[in-house]
Amino acid sequence: MSDRDMSARLRAATKAANEAVAERLPIEDHSAFEAATRGKIAELPEGGVAAPGGRTAWNISDYDFLQQECPETANPSLWRMARLNAISGLFEVCDGVWQARACDYANMTIIRGETGWILVDPLMTRQTSAAALHMVNDTLGDRPISAILVTHTHPDHFGGLRGVAPDPDSAPPIYAPEGFMDYAASEGILGGNHMMRRATYQFGLTLPTSPEGTIDGGIGKSPAKGERTFVPPSDYITYTGEERVIDGVRFVFQMASGTEAPAEFTFLLPDHRVLCMAEVCTQTMHNLLPPRGAEARDARLWARTIDEALVMFGDQADILINCHNWPVFGQEDLKLFLAEQRDIYKYTHDQTLRLANLGHTPNEIAQMLKEPAWLSTKFHARGYYGSLSFNARAIYQFYFGFYDGNPVNMNPLPPSELGTHIVAAIGGPERTLEIARDALEQDQLQWAATLLSHLVFAGHDGAKPDLALAYRHMGYRMESGIMRNCYLMAARELEEGITPLPMVGGRNADLAQTLPALDWCDAYALRLNPDRAQDVRLTLALIVDGTDLTVFVDRQTEFARQAAPATPPDASLTIAQTQLEAIVSGTSTLDDALAEGAEASDPAIIQHWLDMHDAFAFWFPIASP
Ligand SMILES: [Zn+2]
Repeated sequence: MSDRDMSARLRAATKAANEAVAERLPIEDHSAFEAATRGKIAELPEGGVAAPGGRTAWNISDYDFLQQECPETANPSLWRMARLNAISGLFEVCDGVWQARACDYANMTIIRGETGWILVDPLMTRQTSAAALHMVNDTLGDRPISAILVTHTHPDHFGGLRGVAPDPDSAPPIYAPEGFMDYAASEGILGGNHMMRRATYQFGLTLPTSPEGTIDGGIGKSPAKGERTFVPPSDYITYTGEERVIDGVRFVFQMASGTEAPAEFTFLLPDHRVLCMAEVCTQTMHNLLPPRGAEARDARLWARTIDEALVMFGDQADILINCHNWPVFGQEDLKLFLAEQRDIYKYTHDQTLRLANLGHTPNEIAQMLKEPAWLSTKFHARGYYGSLSFNARAIYQFYFGFYDGNPVNMNPLPPSELGTHIVAAIGGPERTLEIARDALEQDQLQWAATLLSHLVFAGHDGAKPDLALAYRHMGYRMESGIMRNCYLMAARELEEGITPLPMVGGRNADLAQTLPALDWCDAYALRLNPDRAQDVRLTLALIVDGTDLTVFVDRQTEFARQAAPATPPDASLTIAQTQLEAIVSGTSTLDDALAEGAEASDPAIIQHWLDMHDAFAFWFPIASP
């Protein structure tokens, strides 16, 4: 079959698959659109939000194409969600409470305090949070910021802190859940380079926004492409039931740590009868494991936490808001919403473990786990962000880890070696390609992609266009916005190569500054290249912003201890963490630091130590070797 006929056949199959979704689900149900547009009073100025270097951090009109009818290249259920998430602006939730929605990936909530604005979750970048605040002051009148709440540790909720609190020394009180600092930096720093690169897939960051590109991120459009900042919290919420009066407004908090994020709270505003579920509830099934990678989340605790909120707050609230998506209005509706949100995690948890206890393994469970019947009419629990199959695998991983018990999977071959053997066993690349193209013709996309990926990893670049074709059509059929993005990113990189994008990736330098010196050293130690460290024995005294540390390099391992060396070190270095961070990020050198006041007893030894560490390139290949 010619390439052109193949393309036409797949387009027809994708069209049919997407039409079947539209037939099965009540796509025309308009009630969510009423909730998502209710109370709109302003929007960001036309032209979007500028970012440094003449770039654009955010422009919601990039998504104007969503006003068209659902194209063949999109799952109609996702298209509906994409339109809802593109409803952007400032919305009055009730007297005294507003939300800036679709001004970045997450929402910023604004509460009228006695003396100023109380802001909840000031977005992801300095530019977008400043623009959202500008819209608030322009519309509601200029007021100072009297307090800021950060509901949890994920950067889309705090990266914009300096857009609303430019000077950390005179910042308003910043409230966060206890444990915030232990996690906010660690998730983004230790595995940060790997996770951030995979996040470019999850969010489709180098894709065009178009009917053939990225259309939605499930819990919002996409992270803004601006400058991520940080200001450390000044006050911590520690227990469920904790009550605070913040700038004259009563808050009752619930701890939700260990559910959607390792440190998180929800809160009730009893005088407004508004319940904010942070990101514990959203208008979609959340993920128990994001495709970008993270520690798997506890679905049972998640369900219990939602139920606790239902019991504690259900009778005291008439409106439920979240830090993503739009509100739920009405007490009965919000109680039902909470029960259904709870049950989607409980269902997935229990059914995964039922099947596991019957002896099934992750790939079997993901296929066997059927959508519960009620889900076909409850869009808020459908998988636009998480999905049943991905979440089932996450629950398996949470309880059992990566190994499924079958010894063949104890030590599988790496992809290139496996691909080479499989291609040879099939009878060579031509024969493998032939079988893969037969599978494509029969619309067996996963099987075709499996064979084609073996070819690509065996070094047969000629298979890349067919693999891209398979991924593209898998993406076009996805209900999950972020799984769509992953497939389409892979397709694009297979066809066009990797296209680096500025203002994407890299670590949040503000945040890295806040790491305790010992944790900073741990994050540096994992760069040690064992070949360069062979036969090296080194003891260094490090004094970082006045903290004494000993760094040992021995047995090809680097270990840091928070204490001055017990025996005379080989060299000592007195330095600021900002200077160390600048050296590691490549914007400065040891010589620069020494010229700026750092002190080394023997600069050559320190340089040798620095030289034993790898730099991490960000744009490593994912869908090819
Ligand atoms: Zn978020």
